[in-house]
Amino acid sequence: MNVLEAKLRKSFTPGKLRRFGVDVEFTAPPGVTVIFGPSGSGKTTILQCLAGLLRPDEGLISVGGERLFDSAEHVDSPPQQRRIGYVFQELALFPHMTSAENIAFGIRGNGSRKIDMVRDILERFRITHAAEHRPGEISGGERQRVALARALVTEPRTLLLDEPFSALDDTLKIDIMTDLKQWLEQRPIPVLLVTHDRMEAEALGGRTLLLKQGKINMQGKESVTV
Ligand code: ADP
Ligand code: MG
Repeated sequence: MNVLEAKLRKSFTPGKLRRFGVDVEFTAPPGVTVIFGPSGSGKTTILQCLAGLLRPDEGLISVGGERLFDSAEHVDSPPQQRRIGYVFQELALFPHMTSAENIAFGIRGNGSRKIDMVRDILERFRITHAAEHRPGEISGGERQRVALARALVTEPRTLLLDEPFSALDDTLKIDIMTDLKQWLEQRPIPVLLVTHDRMEAEALGGRTLLLKQGKINMQGKESVTV
Protein backbone atom coordinates (compact mmCIF):
# COMPACT_ATOMS: atom_id res chain seq x y z
CA MET A 1 0.00 0.00 0.00
CA ASN A 2 1.06 3.53 -0.75
CA VAL A 3 1.88 4.67 2.78
CA LEU A 4 4.09 7.62 3.60
CA GLU A 5 6.42 7.01 6.52
CA ALA A 6 8.49 9.77 8.01
CA LYS A 7 10.84 10.16 10.89
CA LEU A 8 12.77 13.37 10.87
CA ARG A 9 14.77 15.82 12.88
CA LYS A 10 15.70 19.25 11.66
CA SER A 11 16.89 22.18 13.71
CA PHE A 12 17.47 25.84 13.00
CA THR A 13 18.95 28.74 14.88
CA PRO A 14 16.59 31.51 13.72
CA GLY A 15 17.97 34.02 16.23
CA LYS A 16 21.06 34.33 18.40
CA LEU A 17 19.28 33.11 21.48
CA ARG A 18 16.62 31.04 19.85
CA ARG A 19 16.77 27.53 18.63
CA PHE A 20 13.95 25.75 16.90
CA GLY A 21 13.72 22.11 16.03
CA VAL A 22 11.31 19.70 14.42
CA ASP A 23 11.39 16.18 15.75
CA VAL A 24 8.56 14.01 14.45
CA GLU A 25 7.63 10.50 13.51
CA PHE A 26 4.40 9.67 11.72
CA THR A 27 2.79 7.62 9.00
CA ALA A 28 0.16 8.75 6.51
CA PRO A 29 -1.92 6.10 4.71
CA PRO A 30 -3.79 6.92 1.48
CA GLY A 31 -6.34 9.65 2.18
CA VAL A 32 -6.05 12.96 3.92
CA THR A 33 -4.00 13.49 7.05
CA VAL A 34 -4.26 16.96 8.50
CA ILE A 35 -1.29 18.63 10.16
CA PHE A 36 -2.82 21.15 12.47
CA GLY A 37 -0.73 23.61 14.42
CA PRO A 38 -0.09 27.27 15.18
CA SER A 39 2.12 29.49 13.09
CA GLY A 40 5.78 28.71 13.67
CA SER A 41 5.20 25.16 14.89
CA GLY A 42 7.17 23.64 12.02
CA LYS A 43 4.48 22.62 9.53
CA THR A 44 6.18 24.03 6.45
CA THR A 45 9.53 22.68 7.60
CA ILE A 46 8.09 19.15 7.66
CA LEU A 47 6.58 19.45 4.17
CA GLN A 48 9.79 20.88 2.75
CA CYS A 49 11.77 17.98 4.18
CA LEU A 50 9.32 15.51 2.63
CA ALA A 51 9.48 17.26 -0.75
CA GLY A 52 13.27 17.28 -0.71
CA LEU A 53 13.53 21.07 -0.60
CA LEU A 54 15.08 21.01 2.85
CA ARG A 55 17.48 18.41 4.14
CA PRO A 56 16.66 16.86 7.52
CA ASP A 57 19.57 16.61 9.97
CA GLU A 58 18.58 13.03 10.49
CA GLY A 59 15.77 10.75 9.48
CA LEU A 60 14.01 8.43 7.13
CA ILE A 61 11.31 9.16 4.55
CA SER A 62 9.64 6.53 2.43
CA VAL A 63 6.56 6.19 0.24
CA GLY A 64 5.14 2.76 -0.52
CA GLY A 65 8.28 1.22 0.97
CA GLU A 66 10.59 3.14 -1.36
CA ARG A 67 13.16 5.19 0.51
CA LEU A 68 13.37 8.81 -0.56
CA PHE A 69 15.63 9.87 2.26
CA ASP A 70 17.69 7.92 4.73
CA SER A 71 20.44 9.75 6.58
CA ALA A 72 22.01 6.51 7.82
CA GLU A 73 22.42 5.18 4.27
CA HIS A 74 23.07 8.52 2.56
CA VAL A 75 19.93 8.20 0.47
CA ASP A 76 18.57 11.59 -0.61
CA SER A 77 16.60 11.61 -3.84
CA PRO A 78 16.24 14.98 -5.53
CA PRO A 79 12.81 16.66 -5.41
CA GLN A 80 11.99 15.97 -9.05
CA GLN A 81 12.51 12.23 -8.55
CA ARG A 82 10.35 11.95 -5.45
CA ARG A 83 7.03 12.21 -7.32
CA ILE A 84 5.58 14.36 -4.61
CA GLY A 85 3.07 17.06 -5.55
CA TYR A 86 3.35 20.26 -3.54
CA VAL A 87 0.91 23.16 -3.46
CA PHE A 88 1.47 26.12 -1.19
CA GLN A 89 -0.44 29.30 -0.56
CA GLU A 90 1.77 31.43 -2.77
CA LEU A 91 1.11 28.90 -5.55
CA ALA A 92 4.16 29.73 -7.64
CA LEU A 93 2.32 29.63 -10.94
CA PHE A 94 4.31 31.12 -13.77
CA PRO A 95 2.71 34.55 -14.37
CA HIS A 96 3.59 34.71 -18.07
CA MET A 97 2.09 31.31 -18.89
CA THR A 98 -1.55 30.41 -19.43
CA SER A 99 -3.30 27.90 -17.15
CA ALA A 100 -2.84 25.17 -19.76
CA GLU A 101 0.87 25.98 -20.12
CA ASN A 102 1.36 26.06 -16.37
CA ILE A 103 -0.23 22.62 -16.04
CA ALA A 104 1.67 21.20 -19.02
CA PHE A 105 4.98 22.46 -17.66
CA GLY A 106 5.68 19.46 -15.43
CA ILE A 107 4.69 16.79 -17.96
CA ARG A 108 7.57 15.25 -19.83
CA GLY A 109 7.57 14.83 -23.57
CA ASN A 110 5.07 16.43 -25.88
CA GLY A 111 2.47 15.56 -28.45
CA SER A 112 -1.14 14.58 -28.21
CA ARG A 113 -0.86 12.62 -24.96
CA LYS A 114 0.27 15.73 -23.15
CA ILE A 115 -2.53 17.79 -24.68
CA ASP A 116 -5.07 15.14 -23.63
CA MET A 117 -3.74 15.03 -20.07
CA VAL A 118 -4.04 18.80 -19.74
CA ARG A 119 -7.51 18.84 -21.27
CA ASP A 120 -8.71 16.06 -18.95
CA ILE A 121 -7.47 17.65 -15.78
CA LEU A 122 -8.80 21.09 -16.77
CA GLU A 123 -12.21 19.43 -17.06
CA ARG A 124 -11.85 17.51 -13.82
CA PHE A 125 -11.08 20.69 -11.91
CA ARG A 126 -13.65 22.68 -13.88
CA ILE A 127 -11.31 25.30 -15.29
CA THR A 128 -11.57 24.60 -19.02
CA HIS A 129 -12.79 28.17 -19.54
CA ALA A 130 -9.56 29.46 -17.95
CA ALA A 131 -7.20 27.35 -20.07
CA GLU A 132 -5.90 30.19 -22.20
CA HIS A 133 -5.78 32.80 -19.46
CA ARG A 134 -2.78 33.78 -17.39
CA PRO A 135 -2.84 33.69 -13.58
CA GLY A 136 -3.37 37.48 -13.42
CA GLU A 137 -6.52 37.18 -15.51
CA ILE A 138 -8.39 34.60 -13.42
CA SER A 139 -9.90 34.54 -9.91
CA GLY A 140 -8.15 33.37 -6.74
CA GLY A 141 -10.22 30.20 -6.66
CA GLU A 142 -9.40 29.42 -10.27
CA ARG A 143 -5.71 29.98 -9.60
CA GLN A 144 -5.93 27.49 -6.75
CA ARG A 145 -7.53 24.98 -9.09
CA VAL A 146 -4.79 25.49 -11.66
CA ALA A 147 -2.14 24.93 -8.99
CA LEU A 148 -3.83 21.72 -7.84
CA ALA A 149 -4.19 20.51 -11.42
CA ARG A 150 -0.52 21.23 -12.05
CA ALA A 151 0.50 19.26 -8.97
CA LEU A 152 -1.77 16.31 -9.79
CA VAL A 153 -1.43 15.98 -13.55
CA THR A 154 1.75 13.94 -13.24
CA GLU A 155 0.01 11.54 -10.83
CA PRO A 156 2.28 12.02 -7.81
CA ARG A 157 2.58 9.34 -5.13
CA THR A 158 1.96 11.86 -2.38
CA LEU A 159 0.36 15.29 -2.28
CA LEU A 160 1.45 18.03 0.12
CA LEU A 161 -0.87 20.98 0.64
CA ASP A 162 0.53 23.87 2.66
CA GLU A 163 -2.44 26.06 3.59
CA PRO A 164 -3.39 26.40 -0.07
CA PHE A 165 -6.99 27.40 0.53
CA SER A 166 -6.57 29.81 3.40
CA ALA A 167 -7.07 32.95 1.29
CA LEU A 168 -10.38 31.71 -0.12
CA ASP A 169 -13.84 32.16 1.34
CA ASP A 170 -15.59 29.10 2.74
CA THR A 171 -17.86 28.40 -0.24
CA LEU A 172 -14.98 28.39 -2.69
CA LYS A 173 -12.92 26.29 -0.32
CA ILE A 174 -15.61 23.64 -0.03
CA ASP A 175 -16.14 23.52 -3.81
CA ILE A 176 -12.46 22.95 -4.46
CA MET A 177 -12.13 20.40 -1.69
CA THR A 178 -15.10 18.47 -3.05
CA ASP A 179 -13.45 18.23 -6.46
CA LEU A 180 -10.15 17.25 -4.88
CA LYS A 181 -11.85 14.52 -2.86
CA GLN A 182 -13.44 13.11 -5.99
CA TRP A 183 -10.09 13.05 -7.73
CA LEU A 184 -8.49 11.27 -4.78
CA GLU A 185 -11.21 8.62 -4.64
CA GLN A 186 -9.88 7.27 -7.91
CA ARG A 187 -6.23 7.65 -6.97
CA PRO A 188 -5.68 6.78 -3.34
CA ILE A 189 -2.47 8.56 -2.34
CA PRO A 190 -1.43 10.01 1.00
CA VAL A 191 -2.29 13.70 1.20
CA LEU A 192 -0.86 15.89 3.94
CA LEU A 193 -2.91 19.01 4.46
CA VAL A 194 -1.38 21.74 6.57
CA THR A 195 -3.90 24.13 8.00
CA HIS A 196 -4.87 26.11 11.04
CA ASP A 197 -8.50 26.32 9.90
CA ARG A 198 -10.73 23.83 11.67
CA MET A 199 -13.42 23.93 8.98
CA GLU A 200 -10.86 23.01 6.35
CA ALA A 201 -9.48 20.24 8.52
CA GLU A 202 -12.92 18.77 9.05
CA ALA A 203 -14.07 19.10 5.43
CA LEU A 204 -11.17 17.11 4.04
CA GLY A 205 -9.59 15.29 6.86
CA GLY A 206 -9.88 12.03 8.65
CA ARG A 207 -6.70 11.83 10.63
CA THR A 208 -5.14 14.73 12.44
CA LEU A 209 -1.62 15.28 13.65
CA LEU A 210 -1.38 18.09 16.16
CA LEU A 211 1.91 19.91 15.94
CA LYS A 212 3.26 22.06 18.74
CA GLN A 213 6.72 23.56 18.77
CA GLY A 214 8.05 21.02 16.34
CA LYS A 215 6.58 17.98 18.04
CA ILE A 216 3.47 15.93 17.39
CA ASN A 217 1.31 16.19 20.45
CA MET A 218 -1.53 13.90 19.71
CA GLN A 219 -2.82 11.83 16.85
CA GLY A 220 -6.54 11.97 16.15
CA LYS A 221 -8.83 9.05 16.89
CA GLU A 222 -8.67 7.71 13.40
CA SER A 223 -4.96 8.06 13.01
CA VAL A 224 -3.06 5.01 11.99
CA THR A 225 0.18 4.24 13.72
CA VAL A 226 2.33 1.62 12.15
P1 ADP B 1 4.91 26.91 10.23
O1 ADP B 1 4.83 26.49 8.81
O2 ADP B 1 4.23 25.97 11.18
O3 ADP B 1 4.42 28.31 10.43
P2 ADP B 1 7.77 26.85 9.81
O4 ADP B 1 8.11 25.43 9.55
O5 ADP B 1 7.71 27.77 8.66
O6 ADP B 1 6.43 26.92 10.68
O7 ADP B 1 8.85 27.47 10.81
C1 ADP B 1 9.08 26.94 12.09
C2 ADP B 1 10.23 27.67 12.76
O8 ADP B 1 11.43 27.40 12.08
C3 ADP B 1 10.07 29.16 12.82
O9 ADP B 1 10.41 29.57 14.11
C4 ADP B 1 11.07 29.68 11.83
O10 ADP B 1 11.62 30.88 12.31
C5 ADP B 1 12.11 28.60 11.78
N1 ADP B 1 12.69 28.49 10.43
C6 ADP B 1 12.05 28.01 9.34
N2 ADP B 1 12.87 28.01 8.27
C7 ADP B 1 14.05 28.50 8.71
C8 ADP B 1 15.32 28.76 8.10
N3 ADP B 1 15.55 28.48 6.81
N4 ADP B 1 16.30 29.28 8.88
C9 ADP B 1 16.10 29.55 10.18
N5 ADP B 1 14.94 29.32 10.80
C10 ADP B 1 13.93 28.82 10.10
MG1 MG C 1 3.99 27.47 7.13
